[in-house]
Parts: sequence; C-alpha cells; structure tokens
Amino acid sequence: MISIVVPCYNEQESLPLFYQELEKVRKELVNADIEYIFVNDGSKDKTIEVLRELNNADPKRIKYVSFSRNFGKEAGLYAGLEHATGDYVAVMDADLQDPPEMLHAMLEELRSGDYDCIGTRRVSRDGEPPIRSFFARQFYRIINRISDTEIVDGARDYRLMTRQMVDAILSLKEYNRFSKGIFSWVGFDTKYLEYKNQERVAGETSWSFWSLFKYSLDGIIAFSEVPLVIAAFLGFFSFIAAMIALLVIIIRALIFSDSVSGWPSLVCFILALGGLQLFCLGILGKYLGKTYLETKNRPIYIVKEQSLNNEEDKARD
Ligand code: UDP
Ligand code: MG
Repeated sequence: MISIVVPCYNEQESLPLFYQELEKVRKELVNADIEYIFVNDGSKDKTIEVLRELNNADPKRIKYVSFSRNFGKEAGLYAGLEHATGDYVAVMDADLQDPPEMLHAMLEELRSGDYDCIGTRRVSRDGEPPIRSFFARQFYRIINRISDTEIVDGARDYRLMTRQMVDAILSLKEYNRFSKGIFSWVGFDTKYLEYKNQERVAGETSWSFWSLFKYSLDGIIAFSEVPLVIAAFLGFFSFIAAMIALLVIIIRALIFSDSVSGWPSLVCFILALGGLQLFCLGILGKYLGKTYLETKNRPIYIVKEQSLNNEEDKARD
C-alpha cells in the first residue's frame, strides 16, 4: 500500500485533474494500491467540497483532513504523514508539478531495497522568473555552506519514503518546520531522480517572492547557528576597530591638540556601532522568537473536519 499525501491550498481546479492523472498511474501499478490523504490547508475556495465529493466517490481510498485555518504547507505535510497508513508514503503537490508517472520508477527503486527514500530534483527551472531562480540558487549556496544538514539544490518535496523514515520524520515535533531540512536531517539513504520543471495545471502559486524569502530565512535559522556566530564576530571586530580608532584619535589629539575637529568621525563610529548592535540584536531576536514559539508547544495544526473512515481506522487500531 502506498499512501499519497497531498497538501492542498486553493486547489479546486487542480484537484480533479490531479485525481484523474493519479488514477491512471494507480491502474498501472503492479502489486500495489494507493490511498490518498488530502489535507485541506484552510483553502478559501471550494477545495473542501471537491474533497468531500472525491471521498464520497471512493471512501476506501480517499481520505481527507481539513484544517480550521491556513497553517502552511509544512503543517499540511505533517498532518498528511500522520494520517498515512501505507507501507510506503509519497508526498506530492496537487498542481501536477510533480509528475505522477514518476511513481513507477520511484517504487521500483525503493523496492530494490538499496534506498529508504527516493526523492526528486528538478534540473531546470523553466517557466520561473529569472530573479526567483537566482535567489533560489543563492539560498542553496548559503544554507549548504553554513548548515551541517545538506539541502539539495532543486530537490522537491515530492518523494517516496519507507514507513521507517516517515516515523522518523513524525518524531520531529518542532513547530517551525522546514521539511527540506527535516527530510535530510533524519538521515536514511536517499536517491534523487531528475526531471524537467513542469508548469502548474491550474490555479496560481501561493508563494510570493516575499513569502519565499521569509521561508528561506526560516530554513536557515532552523538548521544553522552560524548567523549567531556572525553576529558575535561582527560585534567583536567592530569593538577592536573602535579601540584602534580611539587610540588614533587620542594620539592625534596629543600631537595636534585639535579635539573639536574630530566630531564627524565620532558620529560615524557611533552610527556604525549602533547599526551593528541592532543587526546582532535582530539575529538574536529571530532565534529567541523561534525558541519562544517552540516552548509554547502549540499543536502543529488543528483539524476542523475529517473524512469518516479515518475515524473507523482509528477505532479499529
Ligand atoms: N500549499 C499548502 N498550503 C499553503 C501553500 C501551499 O498546502 O499555505 C500546497 C499547495 O496546494 C500545493 C503545494 O503546497 O499542493 C505547493 O504549492 P505551490 O504550487 O503554490 O508552490 P510552488 O509549486 O509554486 O512552489
Ligand atoms: Mg506548485
């Protein structure tokens, strides 16, 4: 049994197409069946109605969980993985950007037993704004340089994992989830299959440039302590520089005794130091904020509605 976890946010148009494509794949699968776990992440459109209909049409295979509001894709993934019961679990986007036909190849690789996870990587970023691709590349460069957890450039969340790996991922209960990092942090042998970028079938991407920027900052902060070290170094060096400057000023005052003419440089130092302090405080604040959120121990998501047979499954367990 393969569970397919699909986080959905405003996907009313993509979902029927997605289901149609996957059914094609399911019918071609040998010795495997598919179970769908759709997670409605507080969509503003009729996604939930589409999901109810799908669930009515095939209640055994199609399950859904619906959140009380938008909790973000990471929370959706977590909820989906929690509800998945399959021996293998796949994570897939609802917009068909992750080609479903690849499941065959992924399943075959996973069955060979050499790997615990088969991931996917897009080798091209066609159809994406060039600025976005540029910043995406820079993000991967930076995070791989400063974090011990390797994050593969272009790796998608689309992957097929063994139950063992899914349980490992579920054991990470942090509130600030950065899946790309978590998948890699839990370890296990992962093989990446490559494919060309696909355009969305319907609807619109829910990621603006700004939200991607915030997401990448979260990723860096969740998986690296280097920014804290940068802050400490900056503070240290600016202190040394200030001391040297002070010496120079004192010596100059002793030799030329022009104490008044020094005020512009003084203002510069104050400004530079103030800026550095604020910068370091900002970095500290980011980490402190994350720690604060974690210590609250809030649930990662809140369910408002759920397909019934999931409850039956639970009762049977
Ligand atoms: N998604 C979600 N919650 C969100 C944003 C996105 O569950 O808050 C889902 C969305 O429905 C889709 C997947 O995450 O299945 C990827 O989103 P999208 O296609 O917008 O991202 P992109 O492919 O442009 O990176
Ligand atoms: Mg997409």
